[in-house]
Formats: sequence, C-alpha cells, structure tokens
Amino acid sequence: MEKLSAIMLAPKRFAVHDGPGIRTTFFIKGCPLKCLWCHNPESISSAPQIAFIEHKCSNCAECAEVCAANAHIFENGRHIFHHKNCIQCMKCENVCSNKAMKIYGRKISVCEALQIALEDIDFYKESGGGVTLSGGEPLTQSEFTFALLAALKEKSIHTALDTCCFVQQEKLRQSLPLTDIFLVDFKHANPEMHRKLTGQSNEIIKQNLQFLSDNNAKIEIRIPLVPNCNTDNVNIHETGKFLSTLNIETVKLLSYHSMARSKYVSLNMPDTMPITAPPSNEMIAEISDILKSYGLNVKI
Ligand code: SF4
Ligand code: SF4
Repeated sequence: MEKLSAIMLAPKRFAVHDGPGIRTTFFIKGCPLKCLWCHNPESISSAPQIAFIEHKCSNCAECAEVCAANAHIFENGRHIFHHKNCIQCMKCENVCSNKAMKIYGRKISVCEALQIALEDIDFYKESGGGVTLSGGEPLTQSEFTFALLAALKEKSIHTALDTCCFVQQEKLRQSLPLTDIFLVDFKHANPEMHRKLTGQSNEIIKQNLQFLSDNNAKIEIRIPLVPNCNTDNVNIHETGKFLSTLNIETVKLLSYHSMARSKYVSLNMPDTMPITAPPSNEMIAEISDILKSYGLNVKI
C-alpha cells in the first residue's frame, strides 16, 4: 500500500487555514467540478502541467537548448512558449535559473507523503493540528487517499479531508473511519445555479452532506463568497436553511479574490474567473448574520 502514488502539487507545511492547528496540506490533482472562480486552476487536471511565467523570463534561451519538442520559440526578442508542443519531459524547469518554467504535479508515494508529514509531528502535537488532504478533490485518487489517511492514523496523526463532496458516497463511507474532520465546500444552494457556476448540479453534494451528518462526521462547511455569483440574500437564506438541517460544527466564509488570474495565463487555460471585486466587509458581516440566524456557528 505504501508504494501507491498520486500526482500532487507541492505540499504546504505550517498551514493554518486548512483545519485545526498547524498542519501539512497535500494537494492531490484532479477535480470533478469546474468552478468559474477556481483559485487553483493547476489542481483541476489530474495530470502534471507545465506553466510559463513570462515576467520571470530573461530570454536566455537555455530552455530551448534542452527541449526536443520545439516548444520554446524566440521571436523579435520575445520568448513564446508553445504549450501544445510540450511532451512534458520536464527538462526546461531544471535548467531555468529564473524559475520561469514551473511544473505543477509530481508523483508522490504514500511512503514519501508520510515522511513529509512526520517531519512536523511535534508542531501538530503542540497546536492540535495534523494533516489535511486537499485538492483538487482528494477522492479522485481515492485508493491513494485512503492509504495515506490510514498510514497517518496509524501514527495517531489528526486527519482532515477537504472535499467538494461531488463523489460516490461509497468513497465517503470508506473515508469515515479514517477522517477526523471533513472540510466541505458549499458553493450554491440552488441545483441549476450550482450547475451554471461549477458545471454540476449540487444534488449529489447535498445527499453526501446528509450522509456525513447522519454518520456523525465532524463537518466544517466552507463557503466561497463570490459577488454576483452566490452572495445574494435568496441564496444565503436557502444555504442557511439547508445547512441548519444538518449536524455542522462550523461554517467558514472565504472571500473571493482574483489573484489566481495570472496562473490561468501561465498554464494556457481559459480564464473563467468572474470580473468582480472581493466581497466588502459589510457584505461578509451581513451574510454571516443571516447564516447565524439559522443557528449556524459562523467563522469569518
Ligand atoms: S531558461 Fe528560463 S529564463 Fe531562460 S529563456 Fe527559458 S524560460 Fe526564459
Ligand atoms: S517540459 Fe520538455 S518538452 Fe516540454 S517544453 Fe520543457 S523541455 Fe520542452
């Protein structure tokens, strides 16, 4: 089991927003949803991806020397990267001293991930922290996720699973005994609006939340607040009404920001992020008050 591997982004050590205490977060690539406002477009595909960060490039052309795929072209003193030519040999990342070429996604085994996690075990103990498996959607590579969760539990490390819940219920059933807290995104209460904003209806998500609640899972709901998408009063009331029927420990409100826009450009992905300002403090406070009126424990 420990040889099982997954394609992941670089893990984050000393994370303080991904569950209780100080944590190590692993980001497993691959997501079944396509939220318009996705802050981590590099996590949507389950395959490794290469990004060209143009403002870091000094036009030294070292990358072209090692590239057998003719992906680095220099025209009129400008470096043009042809994503579609790339065969992902990953050589140009190694030679670029400016870090203008960046690979998102590497194979990491359960054993390697466990070793990384164990490096900070003292911090977990002191802070009540642990390890979070996030994504993408960690249950897209479920065999790996189950194996890593089991290995962490064997070491008595607190585990959090950050999931969109758009997964087969069986996968959540298998996660239950291995997971101390589920961090579940809830993006919109209305099924059709949910489909418009994420590509999928929310019916499976609601059923899975009901399932987790019925099975006494500890649940933290995370709501991304994206103005003009899901912050209207009707949706917030519907969200509050639905969540109040479940056994939810906390509801965390997360503010939209558009800082990830440059990642779409560097990865050559269509930028779907809404053109909107982040929610104002007044808007967040109003949304928090509405959700609290449904008896929910809201954290900003
Ligand atoms: S090696 Fe790096 S800095 Fe040099 S041209 Fe290629 S991407 Fe630009
Ligand atoms: S990863 Fe390999 S094939 Fe792709 S651009 Fe870099 S050197 Fe060329």
